[in-house]
Amino acid sequence: MFSIAKQSFLFGRKLAGISVPRVCFLHYGASSNVVANAVKFGSHDGQRRPTAKMPKLTDIGSRTLFGPEQDSFRETVRKFFQKEITPHSQAWNERGYTDKEIWEKAGSCGLLGINIPEEHGGIGGSFADACIIMEEHKYGSEEQKQKYIPDMTAGKKISAIAMTEPDAGSDLQGIKSFARKDGSDYILNGSKIFISTGWLADVVVVVAVTNKEAKSAAHGISLFIVDADTPGFKKSWLMKKIGLGASDTAGLFFEDVRLPASALLGEENKGFYYLMNELPQERLLIGVHACAQSEFMFEETKQYVMQRKAYGKTLSNLQTIQHKLAEMKTEICVARAFIDQCIALHEVQQLDAQMACMAKIWVSELENKIAAQCLQLHGGAGYLYDTPIARAYLDVRVQTIYGGSNEVLKDLIARQILAPAKKI
Ligand SMILES: Cc1cc2nc3c(=O)[nH]c(=O)nc-3n(C[C@H](O)[C@H](O)[C@H](O)COP(=O)(O)OP(=O)(O)OC[C@H]3O[C@@H](n4cnc5c(N)ncnc54)[C@H](O)[C@@H]3O)c2cc1C
Repeated sequence: MFSIAKQSFLFGRKLAGISVPRVCFLHYGASSNVVANAVKFGSHDGQRRPTAKMPKLTDIGSRTLFGPEQDSFRETVRKFFQKEITPHSQAWNERGYTDKEIWEKAGSCGLLGINIPEEHGGIGGSFADACIIMEEHKYGSEEQKQKYIPDMTAGKKISAIAMTEPDAGSDLQGIKSFARKDGSDYILNGSKIFISTGWLADVVVVVAVTNKEAKSAAHGISLFIVDADTPGFKKSWLMKKIGLGASDTAGLFFEDVRLPASALLGEENKGFYYLMNELPQERLLIGVHACAQSEFMFEETKQYVMQRKAYGKTLSNLQTIQHKLAEMKTEICVARAFIDQCIALHEVQQLDAQMACMAKIWVSELENKIAAQCLQLHGGAGYLYDTPIARAYLDVRVQTIYGGSNEVLKDLIARQILAPAKKI
């Protein structure tokens, strides 16, 4: 088994001092770190506190999920973002994509391929490590691993995953891109939209139909690894979005792209199964990201109301504002507890699709609520495009849409809720 990645580093996003990217297809080797740290640093011995008890929700050194090693890793990541990303984020945001060099810098600092085993060219860390900065891989031959993973880990190759099409978003089974067999090769035709890092990508995992006669669409879909310089592959459109400016999103076009059999990822017609298998991880990561972003927005806002004056006092002297802070902190800390529980479960491969959907839905909705409330507490300053809170407000909007829209995920949870009842 291999694991291929979509390295969607959302550069330019500074979340609680870390940037937690949207990532598909993560494969986190089970690690005993989380469990060990939970025991070693459990709240009983008083060494590690939950975020609720820290002076700031973003302070390093909290959460029983992590230990001292991960704290110093987080510190390194935070410094990297402050030094290498923040100074450029405005320019990248306006341009619509990051510099390619930043990927290599991240790679040389050991921030890519965190949870990919060392023997495949990765760093060999755990899922908890990858939650600090992430990466991914799976479902591939040894040859594919050797060809792509070391370069992806070094930041020399940027990858993307292309599922969505103009006429198929939530309903992935409606995709039309078709890879026709020609001898042992495949000829790929079709188009994709909304592809994160698609503009910068050197390699794209493309989802395409390989069997139009399959008993259901899901049984006739395969995944292909397509190098960006393959003849017939065009990056047709850098999509202009209302948020996440620095994270490029592209439209891609494939016209008679000839692919060797070695481009097939995993087995033919099993692509839909591979996708479904990996989606809980992506959903959890959206929840992880949403929680960190909520903590960041809360701390920004706390600082703001503590120095902004109205009626001769700071805003934080007003009880309505104090209550708003209390409500927000309570909700964020409740979310944090659930997210950390999901991370710990995922470390031991016990996170199910239902919990991953819950984490994604609840925390992405909370994050949007926190963004709106924090912006309101900033007054007019929050409406200025270049303030962190305005940026965050725009960036978080997409979280309820991608990775499976929240409406669609509610369907999945409901199916799980009702499935046992139906059997009886
Ligand atoms: C910034 C960004 C980055 C993205 N990155 C990627 C990427 O890297 N790779 C990739 O392949 N795709 C990517 N996407 C696409 C994303 O996954 C889709 O936008 C998403 O799946 C929703 O599909 P859609 O936009 O076609 O909406 P639609 O499917 O058209 O849905 C429109 C609305 O109808 C609702 N709806 C649909 N079906 C149902 C239902 N059964 N019940 C109730 N309501 C329903 C939806 O919730 C939504 O509110 C990205 C999108 C964005 C905006």
